[in-house]
Amino acid sequence: MNKAFLEIENLKKVFPGPRGGEPLTVFENVTVGIQRGEFVCVIGHSGCGKSTILNVIAGLDDATEGYVFMDGKEVKGTSLDRGVIFQNHSLLPWKSALSNVMFAVKSRWPGWSREQVRAHAMKYIEMVGLKGTEDRKPSQLSGGMRQRVGIARAFAIEPKMLLMDEPFGALDALTRGTIQDELLNIWSQAGQTVFMITHDVDEAILLSDRILLMTNGPNASVAEAVEVDIPRPRNRETLFKHERFYQIRNHLVDFLVRRSKELSGNGGGATRTVRLAAVNEDQDDSSDEHPRRAAAGGH
Ligand code: ADP
Ligand code: MG
Repeated sequence: MNKAFLEIENLKKVFPGPRGGEPLTVFENVTVGIQRGEFVCVIGHSGCGKSTILNVIAGLDDATEGYVFMDGKEVKGTSLDRGVIFQNHSLLPWKSALSNVMFAVKSRWPGWSREQVRAHAMKYIEMVGLKGTEDRKPSQLSGGMRQRVGIARAFAIEPKMLLMDEPFGALDALTRGTIQDELLNIWSQAGQTVFMITHDVDEAILLSDRILLMTNGPNASVAEAVEVDIPRPRNRETLFKHERFYQIRNHLVDFLVRRSKELSGNGGGATRTVRLAAVNEDQDDSSDEHPRRAAAGGH
């Protein structure tokens, strides 16, 4: 079988206990493969280790055990091949929106002329709908606009992989919706591989090819990888009408409310791949609490 683009193998993270106390095993046995161009979201309760996993993939933190390989190379330290978008986009406050993007573009292609850098940065400023406001400083932009600058900056360096840690968590619902649409648009053009953390199940269903479900920490693990087989292009208006939507949504909510606790702290077995079947595909199992759920083998 082909190796996945991103290979997470037996990842474990232990933080030393404060003041010599008990060490904290945040997660363990995390083994996940992400295909090139795949959009994967991660859901799990606060503190289960989502950000820590993302930081390890980004090369900002080391795993205690296990490996991450991207494109066949082990991840060691940060790389311009991996763009990171945090909730609190760290823009340079003294630079304009455009200059913030240009700064990143220059570091990616140091040999480019100023005009080349500018034109390239401007393309991404336009893509996120900020044309006309490119000369404003971050303090003169709304939270949503600042987040767009962060997205433009991450996309502009054309990383092979995008890592996003609750990128829209701080935005109001309306702005979030618009930026989700833009993100889907850019992603469908650029075809990047995406690993995104969100606490919003609707957002995860809208965006993902697969959703990874993490049990509660400590000793968290990725219990399931839920396939989202809703055809693309998707949009927020029609998504709710698709028969799969509520099946997947119910499954995710049930996991968060109930199963993430029940499964927590068991050290984690292999991640189960879950493909929810259509209502008429498995009527024979009507006694099950979730008659529409069908597990499609291990991983
Ligand atoms: P999530 O993003 O899922 O909310 P985090 O990855 O931020 O969770 O944190 C997971 C656990 O690891 C939490 O219990 C947190 O307190 C702990 N943790 C995170 N970073 C550190 C650190 N640098 N030192 C010690 N403990 C940490
Ligand atoms: Mg986090």
